[in-house]
Amino acid sequence: MIELQNVSRLYRSDEIETTALHNINLTIRQGEFVAIMGPSGCGKSTLLNTLGTIDRPTSGAYLFNGVDLAKLSEAKLAQHRARHLGFIFQSFNLVDDLTIYENIELGLLYRQGQKGSRRQAIETAMDRVGIAHRARHFPHQLSGGQQQRAAIARAIVGNPDLILADEPTGNLDTENGAQVMDILKGLNASGATIIMVTHSPSHADQASRRVDILDGQLVASVAQML
Ligand code: ADP
Ligand code: ADP
Repeated sequence: MIELQNVSRLYRSDEIETTALHNINLTIRQGEFVAIMGPSGCGKSTLLNTLGTIDRPTSGAYLFNGVDLAKLSEAKLAQHRARHLGFIFQSFNLVDDLTIYENIELGLLYRQGQKGSRRQAIETAMDRVGIAHRARHFPHQLSGGQQQRAAIARAIVGNPDLILADEPTGNLDTENGAQVMDILKGLNASGATIIMVTHSPSHADQASRRVDILDGQLVASVAQML
């Protein structure tokens, strides 16, 4: 599904040049659940943003189902993201003055579809994460765990085949973190490919592969027994 070939990403600001990613080679097959680990500042978010086409490599190639994404225009990339990707963040990133239902609807913003089928998709997504009873509430009325589950519903409402999660359990207590992991594993079991940045070894252990990044370089990629 995904092939990164010699991907590097440099940041230049004033006189300072930072190599956030250095010659990354990584192949991820459909249906994998990959955990990315590494110390702060090693390039994990840059890697995830690159995989999410929010960031472009300075050099190297990114093939998605055989298509070289560097050759796509911004408009085509937006279409690619809407069709294939779902994003989950550490801090949930829900919109405060929209209801949970309306927040989840944002996940369908760039999708076609009649009102009825959109509503059906939103209700299916809410049921999947157990948040339907909060549809009319606003984010601040929900616990952190509920907010993250709503954010997952927003990420999956368009049925993405690739879910990118940047420390999805980083702001949650043990119990809510475990719930989020269970939801991600369920989505993976029903076919979604998942790539998750995490600082939690016990959560990384639940993935089918662990990738370690150090100073912008991929230093290990290990399949895990589940
Ligand atoms: P991590 O997610 O592992 O903490 P990041 O991918 O955020 O690491 O950052 C990797 C390196 O790139 C760090 O040295 C960081 O300071 C630098 N970096 C990240 N984003 C930018 C940016 N927009 N401009 C300049 N440097 C950046
Ligand atoms: P309850 O009244 O049982 O607490 P809610 O008011 O949260 O339930 O939601 C009732 C139903 O209305 C749900 O099926 C939900 O999908 C739907 N719903 C909630 N908010 C909206 C909205 N903004 N637009 C359309 N339907 C909505």
